[in-house]
Amino acid sequence: MLKENYLGVDVCPLNMGQVLVEVDRIILEKEPSFIVAINPEKIMKAQEDSNLKELLNSAALQIADGVGVVIASILNGGRIRSRVTGIDLMVNICKRAAEKGYGVYFLGAKPGVAETAVEVLKKRFKGLNVVGVRDGYYKDEAEVIKDIIEKKPDILFVAMGSPKQEYWIRNNMEKLNVSLYMGIGGSLDVLSG
Ligand code: UDP
Repeated sequence: MLKENYLGVDVCPLNMGQVLVEVDRIILEKEPSFIVAINPEKIMKAQEDSNLKELLNSAALQIADGVGVVIASILNGGRIRSRVTGIDLMVNICKRAAEKGYGVYFLGAKPGVAETAVEVLKKRFKGLNVVGVRDGYYKDEAEVIKDIIEKKPDILFVAMGSPKQEYWIRNNMEKLNVSLYMGIGGSLDVLSG
């Protein structure tokens, strides 16, 4: 796929349906991959932080989360015409997971928040297989890693805010046996109301 690039940051010209096709492929091929949501704020942060720029560009998929990215694409003759927001994509991935039987693990947010969000998602998507839930204020990272390894999710959502969650994913993905990783910021807080 030919990615677009705005101020040095890659963005995939994919709509929601096309991203979900990629999600299925990544899980089928068990190809460890991470998805990062790109908005103008992240692009601006990356201007002063080359490590962050490299981190964002190292993701398998950069989704256009932010109307500013769509506008940049239109002005530059690109192909991005719709936003794919992080929270919409997360909810759609959960729908897909329920249909296909993918195992999902949620890591992050304050104690209790992810559990409430999971209840909301399970009501909406019957049969959603949530194999693990952990808040983002743990003391012992090795224990969290062990739990994820034991639960064997296909998908790991990390809700620790950006860029902390993206660094967490990159630093830990080699130790884990997960196909798809995605940082979801404050999405669990939104879902849990
Ligand atoms: N968070 C966490 N661990 C931390 C710091 C933050 O689990 O060490 C959680 C926090 O409780 C919240 C989310 O990360 O649920 C950050 O949400 P925010 O809206 O700030 O992230 P953004 O969407 O702006 O990246």
